Amino acid sequence: MTGGDGTEVTTMPDGAGAPEEAGDGAFHPLLVRQLTRHGLHPDAIPDKGAWIHLLERVSTAYRDADESRYLLERAMEISSVEMANLYERLREASESRLRRERDRLRTVTDHSPVAILELDTDGRVQYANPRADDLAGRSLLDTDRSLLFWVHRDDRRPLLKRIGQAMEHSGDFDLTIRFRAADGPLRWLRLHGRALAGSGDQPDNLFIAATDVTTEVEAWEVSDRFNALLETTSDVVAVFQPDGALFHLNPVAAEFLGVPAEGDPSGHRIEEFLDERSRALLRDQAMVGARRDGTWRGEATFVDTHGRRHAMSLVVVAHVGREPGGDHYSAIARDITELKAAEQALVEQATHDGLTGLPNRVLLLDRLRHALEGARRRDSGLAVLYIDLDRFKVVNDSQGHVAGDRLLVKAAQRLRETVRAGDTVARIGGDEFVVLCEDIGDPSQVPATARRIVEAFLRPFEVSGEDAFVTASVGVATNLSAHDTAESLLRDADVAMYRAKDAGRSRLEVFDEDMRSWITERYDMEAALRQAVDNEELWVAYQPSLDLVTGEWSIVEALARWDRAEHGAVPPGRFIPLAEETGLIGALGELIMRKACTQLAHWNWARRGREPVSVAVNVSGRQLTQPGLVEMITDVLEETNAQASWLVLEVTESALVEDPAPVREHLRELSALGIRIAIDDFGTGYSGLSYLQQFPFDLVKVDRRFVDGLGPGPDSDPTDHAIVESVISLAHQLGYDVVAEGVENAAQLAALTELGCDLAQGFHLAHPVPADELERTLSGEADPRPGIPGSPRGLDGLAPGDGGVPPGDSDAPGHDGEAAGS
Ligand code: C2E
Ligand code: CA
Ligand code: CA
Repeated sequence: MTGGDGTEVTTMPDGAGAPEEAGDGAFHPLLVRQLTRHGLHPDAIPDKGAWIHLLERVSTAYRDADESRYLLERAMEISSVEMANLYERLREASESRLRRERDRLRTVTDHSPVAILELDTDGRVQYANPRADDLAGRSLLDTDRSLLFWVHRDDRRPLLKRIGQAMEHSGDFDLTIRFRAADGPLRWLRLHGRALAGSGDQPDNLFIAATDVTTEVEAWEVSDRFNALLETTSDVVAVFQPDGALFHLNPVAAEFLGVPAEGDPSGHRIEEFLDERSRALLRDQAMVGARRDGTWRGEATFVDTHGRRHAMSLVVVAHVGREPGGDHYSAIARDITELKAAEQALVEQATHDGLTGLPNRVLLLDRLRHALEGARRRDSGLAVLYIDLDRFKVVNDSQGHVAGDRLLVKAAQRLRETVRAGDTVARIGGDEFVVLCEDIGDPSQVPATARRIVEAFLRPFEVSGEDAFVTASVGVATNLSAHDTAESLLRDADVAMYRAKDAGRSRLEVFDEDMRSWITERYDMEAALRQAVDNEELWVAYQPSLDLVTGEWSIVEALARWDRAEHGAVPPGRFIPLAEETGLIGALGELIMRKACTQLAHWNWARRGREPVSVAVNVSGRQLTQPGLVEMITDVLEETNAQASWLVLEVTESALVEDPAPVREHLRELSALGIRIAIDDFGTGYSGLSYLQQFPFDLVKVDRRFVDGLGPGPDSDPTDHAIVESVISLAHQLGYDVVAEGVENAAQLAALTELGCDLAQGFHLAHPVPADELERTLSGEADPRPGIPGSPRGLDGLAPGDGGVPPGDSDAPGHDGEAAGS
């Protein structure tokens, strides 16, 4: 056996050792050295034979020990070298790994989206990664402050508590706090903290990882609020799957379906909310639209658990799920039943007349447009009947608006009853109605319908216990031309109605092309009359009456005359009603009043010292109801120097019946001034004299039509005779003088004289003439009516020149002849 260094190693024999080996003679050097130290040379050992065995055994033992020690020493030698190498290598390795590790850690923390902080127990920052500085808006290491300084006050205590707990148990904590960044807003930070207990001189410290969760918190806040909203809103909110299965209902929706509020809605379906039509709408439009655009808006009919139907505004929102098959929808619905009703009411209001409930002009025109289209398509006829109530204003003014309204309601009813069920009856103005008749087979039926309406209005209306007579004037227009529009048809019917009124009311007129020119003429005439009044181009004709008792000329009636440029004389019967309708009558009346009074003052100045002349001026019903009449007359009297007692006002009987209250008031004031009042056209207003007693009258003018039948001759009428007779006798009993109008022949005059009539007026006696002509007639210079029995004596001194210079110019134009119309 050879040792590592070449030394021969002898294996020790087991037991007492091998004698032959000992016999080699050489002892182990260590034994030799020890023997020598004891003064014994191995070769000169006394009694060597006795010891040899023992010595050999010791030597062998040494040799054996050598072997083990060598091995041990070798082993130790090897391991320490290797250990040193290994250690060296290990040392090198761990250092670079640590460095790498540190670098890696460094890179990670430097770029970490998470803020990483190490704090000491005072909360001061020992380490902060860039993100932490970033979040704080400052370099945290450079400050001596505790990090708590920037934590929201309300969050400090909970944070400190968690840190304390963590420190105590070297544990972790999670907490979300608000942190004030430098010059910045509050940020929400989620902290994850870990406390590390220190060892030896290592202090305790705290690692904190912080994430900015501001956006999330805000989002949560929003969604929290949103959830609260969903739970408390009065809207129905239901979330459902594409197949319609519900998986969330807010309380309102739950109540709507009759599902317990906290219960599980699955098992119910969104369709249960809806009526049949709305189900199809949801499927075919709402869900499709929401998928395409995100949201869909519309209206649907919901049916609640009690079976009640609700008009709802509906928003459907599509939510695209993260997972396939995770798509779902929200339905948000608001009850708009009331809104709808209000809307409906508004539409109703906008298209209907509030009083009668009939369609108004807006709706009528709309229907008329549709009707015209339909008529054109079907080549059928339609008619527009324009109805205006005659004398409605009278009832309204005299009996009050309440009565007027009631009358209109009744008139509407009567119209409805008179026409076909399918016809539209509309109210398009105060007392104006329109009937639209569609699909009229035979156009000749239309006037019959119109006539039925006129006739229906001949019956009185009972309003507030009284009978009110309101007739109807009807204008008819049919779709004659293909160019007709709703507006033009309505206008044509209006023109025809106007024509009906013009022709005497309570009648019908069918529109024809002539009416178009008629209406334009009318408009032209109105403009011309206005101008004539403004320019004072009207003049006055005078017609005297004869006192049948004294045989003298008496009251002279002033009659308005208009010589229209390029048209000639227009009869008062045409321009007076026009002036009344257009409101011109006020100015016209004042003009005539001023001219007549100027003339009157002129005549009476000439007749001073003798019996004065009286002039009668006609006052229209319109003037009588308007305020300012009394002032106007007193002003004119003062201005012209005419006296009230010389003036007679002629008021038609109809004006008294139509609107008695203000008329009575005006007449009383005028009468108090000394002006005499005459009832004109008596007998045409169907009122008795007893009724007229409430007005302060002086004279009654019996209408021409009753005078016509007096005396023998072709027009003789015993009824007229009786009427005139009784009027005269009754008037006399009441203290009125009686004037007979329209005396055209001697027989009538004789009859009137016989009946005891006071005054007579008529062509038989004198025509209305300009003032200067009248003067010649009356002074006897000219007698236009020879052969009058008991030829009247002239009004001496009426003519100028007889009594000096008159106080103003006579206004009669220098033309001769009879200017009276009719
Ligand atoms: P009225 O007040 O009844 O006037 C009498 C009308 O009878 C006058 O017609 C006169 O010319 C006419 N007349 C006189 N004698 C006879 C006769 O023997 N036979 C016939 N057939 N007629 C006779 P005129 O001038 O055409 O006036 C018509 C109406 O116009 C008047 O009727 C009156 O209501 C109105 N009128 C005339 N001037 C004025 C006025 O200044 N103001 C107002 N408000 N109305 C006036
Ligand atoms: Ca008159
Ligand atoms: Ca008259």
